[in-house]
Amino acid sequence: MNDCIFCKIINGEIPSNKVYEDELVYAFYDIAPAAPVHILIIPKEHFSGMNEASPAHQALLGHILLTAQKLAKDLGFAEDGYRIINNCGENAGQTVFHLHFHLLAGDQFDRLV
Ligand code: AMP
Ligand code: ZN
Repeated sequence: MNDCIFCKIINGEIPSNKVYEDELVYAFYDIAPAAPVHILIIPKEHFSGMNEASPAHQALLGHILLTAQKLAKDLGFAEDGYRIINNCGENAGQTVFHLHFHLLAGDQFDRLV
């Protein structure tokens, strides 16, 4: 996608503070952190959000969650705990329309559910 900021981050047109990358996903620190640790995990394939995911993305979506677990272990906050968030659409406040999961840690968070 030509005008997608996260696609530009993946291809290096926009700088990012990279945490992890493999053939399927890219992870980097959020520019406006909402927690002491705030990482975004995105697929390298562009699609705008969970509404556009299909059964063809099943393995990719699982890989994103396991990447979050790996980062939690590697960065040392797996035992203390962490939160994984996906905002889908207007009511959830999604602002960037390239699928992403927020990985938040380093604090005790208020319960949402
Ligand atoms: P959402 O509101 O769920 O769509 O999340 C989008 C997130 O992307 C927000 O937390 C922003 O702070 C973050 N963000 C936007 N632009 C950048 C950027 N250039 N680098 C890192 N994070 C960004
Ligand atoms: Zn994109």
